[in-house]
Amino acid sequence: MSDIKKNIEDIISKLPDDVLLVAVTKHRSIEEIKKVLEEGISDLGENRVQEFREKQEVLPKDIRWHIIGHLQKNKVKYVIGKVFLIHSVDSVELARTIDKESKKKGLMTDILIQLNVSGEESKFGLDPNQLDQFLEDISDLGNIRIKGLMTIAPNTKNIEDLKDIFTTTRAIYDKIKENVNGVTNIEMTFLSMGMTNDFDVAVEAGSNMVRIGSGLFE
Ligand SMILES: *Cc1c(COP(=O)(O)O)cnc(C)c1O
Repeated sequence: MSDIKKNIEDIISKLPDDVLLVAVTKHRSIEEIKKVLEEGISDLGENRVQEFREKQEVLPKDIRWHIIGHLQKNKVKYVIGKVFLIHSVDSVELARTIDKESKKKGLMTDILIQLNVSGEESKFGLDPNQLDQFLEDISDLGNIRIKGLMTIAPNTKNIEDLKDIFTTTRAIYDKIKENVNGVTNIEMTFLSMGMTNDFDVAVEAGSNMVRIGSGLFE
């Protein structure tokens, strides 16, 4: 059995205080997740709604759940009111569905816009060139709040390529943040980027939320 406690200590020691660790618990057992909670981590990320629901049912209620994977519109109703943040909003239709389901429940749902900065076809995410139009299209939605951006870097060890993706995303984040005056449903707070193999590069580029899975459990 791997030493989850030690893994967490190692990773935390590499993170500046203002960077939030989201422990990615997909495919992990309840027993393993409990070890993470024991270390004082209370932000957990899941990428599948079904798995999230099963775990949410049996784990403590004060966990802050993050949906980090591609979200289908017909699954939205199962997460509204139960999650802290949805990281993976990449279409106007999905944003509208989240807004509609939130409105039904009288809630405000916090979301991040997932950007596909690398342009890889295999990746979900909004093309950064479509971002201005996206923000305009959703500006009238009263039951979602855009809290920032999320991106997934390509699976590469090339530090320069990673840096490029992360600094580009950071620049887009800063630009929106500077220009939000008057837009009520945008409140740039979180820049979610960095996973086990690239979080150090992401943090250096200005990430304030890392999503780490294998590095905690293996
Ligand atoms: C699985 C996953 C992670 C964690 O990846 P690791 O390499 O295991 O740290 C982060 N973000 C998303 C969107 C994921 O699906």
